[in-house]
Amino acid sequence: PGQLMAGKRGLIMGVANNRSIAWGIAKACAAQGAEIALTYQGDALKKRVEPLAAELGTKTVLHCDVTDGASIDNVFDTLAKEWGSLDFLIHAIAFSDKNELDGRYVDTTEKNFTQSLLISCYSFTALAKRAEKLMPNGGSLVTLTYYGAEKVMPHYNVMGVAKAALEASVRYLAADLGRTGIRVNAISAGPIKTLAASGIADFRYILKWNEYNSALRRNVTIDDVGNAGLYLVSDLSRGVSGEIHHVDSGYHIQGMKNEDAPDI
Ligand code: NAD
Repeated sequence: PGQLMAGKRGLIMGVANNRSIAWGIAKACAAQGAEIALTYQGDALKKRVEPLAAELGTKTVLHCDVTDGASIDNVFDTLAKEWGSLDFLIHAIAFSDKNELDGRYVDTTEKNFTQSLLISCYSFTALAKRAEKLMPNGGSLVTLTYYGAEKVMPHYNVMGVAKAALEASVRYLAADLGRTGIRVNAISAGPIKTLAASGIADFRYILKWNEYNSALRRNVTIDDVGNAGLYLVSDLSRGVSGEIHHVDSGYHIQGMKNEDAPDI
């Protein structure tokens, strides 16, 4: 095993279980020698995340709900005490009321619009602001986005709008924080069956469609995304900032369906 991340410390937010994209990134970074802190949202997920943290040899496992500024502050206060500084941050957090990931976007409610944008977009900025203080010598911030930010995808609705705002915020944050050597990027992942994805109506159809119509004719795994995450938080990507990096088997380059795609 290599030691690409030896001496680097990172906070990984958004592990819900061993199918989470954040878990794929955590595994890839830990395998390269990174020291990792994890957060979980609420007691129900604590039971799932603690054994995963043990697998990584991580003792720092903290509750954080990004709608609660005090719980975010607590995470960064703890890291300031335990580590003093931070090298990277992974933000793999999104939420929308399931009922609004079906039907028409135009019917989205003000309440769910506000909450979805708060959790799925603003939280990354709120975290970046705190992370900056722990990154006096530079660092890397990475968030997760989806093609529904660029093009209309069935049922993605308000999440597509939230991801578009998130991608724009990656560029503004990259410009703001670049002076101190902090890089900010996003991975636009192809569809993967996770807890969050189970909220999207007809997700099996979307998975099949992407498998048949991507350049590589397969879906990506959390390990594919994990390795791309490793690249973005490691020094290998030291010249890269403000980028939306697609890890989607090349799906986003396609203009029409593949001629060899079977019917679904
Ligand atoms: P997941 O369900 O494993 O992870 C989502 C995480 O968001 C969970 O850990 C959950 O606890 C956390 N979260 C939700 N609300 C929160 C809050 N208020 N405070 C703190 N944490 C909160 O699913 P995933 O698919 O691994 O999602 C991770 C990221 O990847 C999300 O941003 C998602 O939009 C993005 N993404 C997923 C796919 C996919 O197909 N699965 C594709 C592209 C992008």
